[in-house]
Amino acid sequence: MEPKSARRKVVIVGGVAGGASCAARLRRLDENAEILMVEKGPYVSYANCGLPYHVGGVIEKEASLLVATADTFRLQFNVDVRTNCEAIRISPESKTIELRNVESGEARSESYDTLVLSPGAPSVRPPLPGIDLPGIFQVRTVPDARAIREWIERGSLFLSGMDKYSGFQTLKPKTRAVVIGGGFIGLETAENLVHRGFDVTLVEMLDQVLAPLDVDMARIVEDYVERHGIRLALNDGVAGFQQAADGSLEVLTKSGKTHLADIVILALGVRPDTALAKAAGLEIGQRGGIRVDEQMRTSNPDIFAVGDAVEVRDFVTGEWSLIALAGPANRQGRIAADVIAGRNSRFRGTQGTSIIGLFGAAAAWVGASEKTLRRLGASDYEKIYLYPNSHAGYYPGARPIAMKVLFRKSDGRFLGAQAIGEDGVDKRISALAIALQMGATIYDLEEAELCYAPQFGSAKDPVNFAGMVAADIVRGDMPISHWDAAEDGFLLDVREPVELAVESVPGAVNIPLGQLRARLSELPRDREILIICRSGQRAYYATRALLQLGFKARTLAGGTLSRYHSHVLVN
Ligand SMILES: Cc1cc2nc3c(=O)[nH]c(=O)nc-3n(C[C@H](O)[C@H](O)[C@H](O)COP(=O)(O)OP(=O)(O)OC[C@H]3O[C@@H](n4cnc5c(N)ncnc54)[C@H](O)[C@@H]3O)c2cc1C
Repeated sequence: MEPKSARRKVVIVGGVAGGASCAARLRRLDENAEILMVEKGPYVSYANCGLPYHVGGVIEKEASLLVATADTFRLQFNVDVRTNCEAIRISPESKTIELRNVESGEARSESYDTLVLSPGAPSVRPPLPGIDLPGIFQVRTVPDARAIREWIERGSLFLSGMDKYSGFQTLKPKTRAVVIGGGFIGLETAENLVHRGFDVTLVEMLDQVLAPLDVDMARIVEDYVERHGIRLALNDGVAGFQQAADGSLEVLTKSGKTHLADIVILALGVRPDTALAKAAGLEIGQRGGIRVDEQMRTSNPDIFAVGDAVEVRDFVTGEWSLIALAGPANRQGRIAADVIAGRNSRFRGTQGTSIIGLFGAAAAWVGASEKTLRRLGASDYEKIYLYPNSHAGYYPGARPIAMKVLFRKSDGRFLGAQAIGEDGVDKRISALAIALQMGATIYDLEEAELCYAPQFGSAKDPVNFAGMVAADIVRGDMPISHWDAAEDGFLLDVREPVELAVESVPGAVNIPLGQLRARLSELPRDREILIICRSGQRAYYATRALLQLGFKARTLAGGTLSRYHSHVLVN
């Protein structure tokens, strides 16, 4: 047994994603360390990602959300866990931390050799008039989800179950929910409230949902969720809340509208919890998160910080960024433990790899969006749109995936991707995420060898397909253009006339691909010809033919599908 003096004491603040990962990993690396994990809430290591689904009843039992209990940590990892215990002050000079029992108010001080902060990012709660009215909730903790479920069940108490009795048929009253905020948590909760029979309105200040997506891709999501019952009120911020005479709520917006509600969910985003860190004099970064180095060390070498509370480097742009995601929080907790135990682990930076499921579809993305590249003034990039099938079209169940892929024109470096569809979105973005982290180019995507059988993919997987289309552009085989530049050229539509009956492009000359070589005399030789089809594939074939025949030709990227981008998913 090592002497007592060699025993390191590590105090971890926050017992969920980052904190719990750190505690468990540290124990696996250092059997001798004294580990104290304090959590101000009643639970450690709970699945906050599952909360919207508990609200919706998909995850029926609250206990299913409790991934590991305080006892698991005590018994399996010999970690001293204190729940309902809030860290209220750090004294870096004396290396002590003051803790307060939330229930009794009793305070006590603990010394530490190393401190790890993983306090997360609380939900934004602006001081709007009426925000504390009953019936207004947030979805962040297990007690929050419980309160929502109780409110919903109490709301229909006198009718609940009656409709099941024979001989007494009654309709449950349609209840109205207003969700404020069109990010992950807002949309997930809105979907779950639709499943519970609510008439749901989602109010969002921006002119799109899911802010990390480019607006053209967000339109696909918006169209899809509207068709599944969520009413979107975009471009409108919430101004306040009032109680109506019948006890229900009125949500007042900045544009002067009033939305009636029986329940309101606030999902206005999160803000890093830096209160303890600030008071302890730790450096706070330009994005408002705790500044850490690659080893998760703060400006004080004895204090580490991980998870939603820190800001980290964006892997693609190099910018500092705030990423509130469970994957990075877990990995950072593990890295901090490694470093505390003397290992040389480093966080590689974030790519923002994300996914959200909505009514059976998924939207996912990784790396830089076009709006980020534009904000940074980048001009050396190109974008493509493609709509490959999720698996071989001849095998039942194939669904289109709408993809947008961004890459550097000068060297083909892959920069980011966004995908939306009802099948196979997750694995494509996951494959692209690892490619991005390895610094892949579009040529690497062309050559990626991915698993294939007809029910899973295609011999040319959407990932390969993206690489091939992008590489065709960079190699000069397929010059492209986009709709915003389409007015300057001669528009040639190579679709079949029957397709034009559904959607035509004003001003375009229609020569179906099969007739093109016989009707070359109808095409100008002195003007650039912009070629349109439905998704870009036939336009590419036409572009290749015309280029080789001496014409100036370009493919309109993504064809008519990328023109408005709303009705891409037809279900
Ligand atoms: C509803 C919801 C759904 C989500 N869905 C997803 C998803 O699908 N995918 C995904 O990647 N991410 C998702 N996230 C985000 C993910 O849960 C977070 O990124 C992750 O939990 C962050 O880990 P963390 O350790 O930094 O903070 P948290 O997991 O939030 O833990 C911080 C803990 O610290 C405690 N604490 C704070 N201050 C103190 C103090 N002074 N003393 C003691 N304890 C303190 C808090 O009570 C809290 O329990 C979701 C989050 C929510 C709320």
